[in-house]
Amino acid sequence: MNIRLSTGKEIPIEMHKVRIVQKASLVPVEKRLKAIEEGGYNTFSLKSKDIFIDMLTDSGTNAMSDNQLAAMMVSDDAYAGSESFYKLARAIEDVLGFRYVLPTHQGRAAEHLLAKVFIKKPGDIIPMNYHFTTTKAHIELFGGQVLEIYEDEALNTQSKHPFKGNLNIQKLKDAITKYGTGRIPFVRMEATTNLLGGQPFSMQNLKQVKQICSEHNIPLVLDGSLVPENAYFIKLREEGYKNKTIKEIIKEFMSFIDLFYLSARKSSCVKGAFIATNNEDLYERIKPWLPVYEGFLTYGGMSSKEIEAMAVGLREMTDINVAGSVPEQVKYFVEGVIENGIPVVTPPGGLACHIDAMMFLPHIPQSQYPAGALAAAIYIVSGVRSMERGTISMDRDKDGNEVYSDLELARLAVPRRVYTMSHIEYVVDRIQWLYRHRDLIKGLKFVEEPPVLRFFFGKLEPIDNWGTKLGEAFKKEFGVQY
Ligand SMILES: *Cc1c(COP(=O)(O)O)cnc(C)c1O
Repeated sequence: MNIRLSTGKEIPIEMHKVRIVQKASLVPVEKRLKAIEEGGYNTFSLKSKDIFIDMLTDSGTNAMSDNQLAAMMVSDDAYAGSESFYKLARAIEDVLGFRYVLPTHQGRAAEHLLAKVFIKKPGDIIPMNYHFTTTKAHIELFGGQVLEIYEDEALNTQSKHPFKGNLNIQKLKDAITKYGTGRIPFVRMEATTNLLGGQPFSMQNLKQVKQICSEHNIPLVLDGSLVPENAYFIKLREEGYKNKTIKEIIKEFMSFIDLFYLSARKSSCVKGAFIATNNEDLYERIKPWLPVYEGFLTYGGMSSKEIEAMAVGLREMTDINVAGSVPEQVKYFVEGVIENGIPVVTPPGGLACHIDAMMFLPHIPQSQYPAGALAAAIYIVSGVRSMERGTISMDRDKDGNEVYSDLELARLAVPRRVYTMSHIEYVVDRIQWLYRHRDLIKGLKFVEEPPVLRFFFGKLEPIDNWGTKLGEAFKKEFGVQY
């Protein structure tokens, strides 16, 4: 929720109290430099003890509520028929309206099952508003191809468009004409589009997508990992939704969806995931594979404690102060960075502040990974961990050629209810300092490059040893202890 101060300034106010805390530490710049060098200039290789503010991801890093923690105390560990599962199933039916539930240990496990069951032959096409890394990997491992059909505005990082996550309707019609329904096992929408900067789609757009899917008998799948945030944006930005509750908006989404999945590591603040549907046939096709890859139907690879907390988290995410907490903090973050002319994705999205690395570092070509360089540089000058979302996050094609990403972003994710306003102020300040010294940053090159999802374990090195020079400049201004 936002509160207007007597000065007229609006600030996002935390609608929760912090009653359990974890100690944070800020190691000096020398140590940070050593840590990033040892980690091959890849922020995934950093150790938590060397990180001050961890904005790598909002996946599994969110603060649970007191009620979620309490629910974990009373879980039922039965291998089959666990009461904890039935509590989750009731929450899913109440919040989302789906009768059939297939729990999985993580969002990508749900994606694995969907790809395995629905992609029937090489060359199958999955149209979507935008890809996510793990989604694309699973679809391609089963021989399918991702077809991204977003609006032109989606790739404009300096935009005012309220729904950059919309799927382009004409392009969907064209794709169906071109490939035929036989080659399109399902259409996928993602709420919100993670890699475009947490950008939402509108209800109007979802309705149109569903209409076309229905006309051609193609199932519509929703990746709802950040569905409350998408609903929050609809309430704020779409005509006719101002007076609807988050719960009502979420329910309306689901009326258009044949198959739903989410990673509960995001908006419901626990470690797990599930697939849900009202279509018995789709459910029966996936069900036999669940015990093969995940676990029995009533736990799906999750601990019963997490299942209990998920049931509570699902209900809580429909609270406007929960759904809106990250969008409002992100908005404050983005506005602070923009004030200083720093290129950042707008409008502010649902999970992170995304810095446009191609604009921040125009002197670094995409072949030298500007977003990866920026993420490493941010860590060196602040102890803040961000994630590269650019060409390093794309794998090479079958012939070994680089696939250049549409956008080169350094993503600073805002975990739910974990960091405070002064943390955000600090991050904004260090990014401003970095922007004034951006000429010191140069590119990266691979020294170890894994064949799949290379961004996780890849090792790189800085061209011309720029990390050390940046560290020296920082020390000159702030001294060695920061
Ligand atoms: C995080 C995420 C996934 C993958 O979920 P995990 O639980 O991390 O495996 C899939 N889709 C979207 C949109 C996500 O944000």
